[in-house]
Order: sequence, then structure tokens, then C-alpha cells
Amino acid sequence: MKKIALALLCSLPIFASVHVAAAYPYIGELTKTIAGDKAEVSVIASASSDPHFVTPRPSYIGILRSSDLLILNGGGLEIGWIPPLLAQANNAKIVQGSQGYLDLSRYVKMIDKPVSLSRAQGDVHAEGNPHYALDPHIMPTLAKVIMLKLSAMDPANKNVYQANYDAFVKHWSDKLAQWDAAMAPCRNTQVVQYHELFNYFFNRYGIRTAATIEPLPGISPSSKHTMEVITQIRSEKIPLITQDDYHEPKTAQFIAEKSGARAVILAHDVGNGSLDKWFDTLVTQTCLR
Ligand SMILES: [Zn+2]
Repeated sequence: MKKIALALLCSLPIFASVHVAAAYPYIGELTKTIAGDKAEVSVIASASSDPHFVTPRPSYIGILRSSDLLILNGGGLEIGWIPPLLAQANNAKIVQGSQGYLDLSRYVKMIDKPVSLSRAQGDVHAEGNPHYALDPHIMPTLAKVIMLKLSAMDPANKNVYQANYDAFVKHWSDKLAQWDAAMAPCRNTQVVQYHELFNYFFNRYGIRTAATIEPLPGISPSSKHTMEVITQIRSEKIPLITQDDYHEPKTAQFIAEKSGARAVILAHDVGNGSLDKWFDTLVTQTCLR
């Protein structure tokens, strides 16, 4: 009898120490990298959905209900969808202000803070541009914040988190050197974006956003504005138009045909591949050599 009980016990899976809910896929990937098998990570939003407006699902409430730690992008990016889910999940461990609530934006210097919050400016991000994860140089800071949080919540595995973090930083600094070198030829060029989604990426590499396809944040393209963008691309010889994968791509394609610029669809989040592959692809798609 004892033998059977022991065999049963040994065959049980090793339970993760911390259950983590990650608001976006890149947060999930980073957390898995730091936590290894010490945490069970559930990602809420998918990489192809609009990060500003994630459609709520009952399963998301289930994830939040069973989590010890919620890791958010913050900076207002989840303001339209996380608060109602959190209210329904009713989990005291992960409410704002508790140990299990981690807002990564608090550790990042945000850019593009609006001068005024008038509705005439469109649907602006009141706290600044929250799409900071598109700058690969910010990733080690986020990794450190996650490592420290996991260590505080699960001190027994502190050494594991530290070792995984050290390995990540070493690997990532090699990748940063590759990406920086690959992007160097595109410094001082211009780009047209759909939404100012890739500002951190382009700012990092000295690429200036000359215009956006949406006339104002959150406002759909108008024909008048589209024609102005075409004229601007032609006169300023702007080589690149970038499009996210959740807005309609037709306007970008039309502008590309009329202006001669190259239009590419870029992933704003990690998708099915790794963090490395996400940035590898961003680099090769935006800077042709
Ligand atoms: Zn945005």
C-alpha cells in the first residue's frame, strides 16, 4: 500500500510555485524565460488582436481568478479591457496595489506624453505611448523587474530566477549587437506608420515617423488624409510604410501603389515564435540591405 502511494506521489507533475497571468504574449515569453518550470504562465491577449481593445472571454476571468501574479504592460494600454475582467475575477491577490499586481510601465521612461488631452486630438494615450516593448533595449529592464518580483514571491527559487535572468541578459546583449548593426544603415530615414505603434523601435534606430495613415489616433483613414500622405511620401521620398496586423491593410497597400513606398505588415507582439525571432523579423522587414 505504501509503495503504491509513493509511486502515485512520484508520478504527479511538479507543481509550479507561482501562477502568472500575462496580459500580452511578449510578457508571457519573458516570464517563461525567467521562471523556467517554476511558474505556470497563462497569456491573455493574442498577438494578432488589437492590444488596446482585447475582446473579453470567460476563460480570461478563469485565468485571473487562479493567478498569484498579474503582469501588465501598463501605461494605459489595458485600460479598455483589464479593469472589468479584474472586477469579475474578484481575486484579492492580483488587485492593483497588491503584491501580485505588476505594472511594467512603472519601470520604463515613456515617450510621446500628450501636451493636452482634448478629444480633438483623437483617442490619445493619456500617459504617453505605451508600446515601449517594441524597443529591444528595454527588454532586459523588464526581465529584471520580473526576476525580482518572482524572487520576492517565491524566495525558495530565487537562485533559479537569478540564473535564468543572467543567461537571458547575456544572450540578449549579443542579439542587441546584431540588431543594432543591422539597423544602422537605415538611420536618418523616414517612415509612415498606421498608428504610432512602433515609435520606440524607430526612435531607437534613428528612423523618423513622418506621418500616420490614421489621421488622428484611433480615427480611421479619410480619403483627404490618404491623398496628403501619398503626396508627402512622393515629395520626401519616404521608403517605408508599416502596418500592424489588426487594422485593415487596404489603405496602406493603396498608398504604397500610388507612392512607390514599400508597405510591410509588422507584428507588434511575439506571436508563435520566440522573442529573438520577433525582433529578427522586425529588423529584416524594416531595414533592407
Ligand atoms: Zn496605441
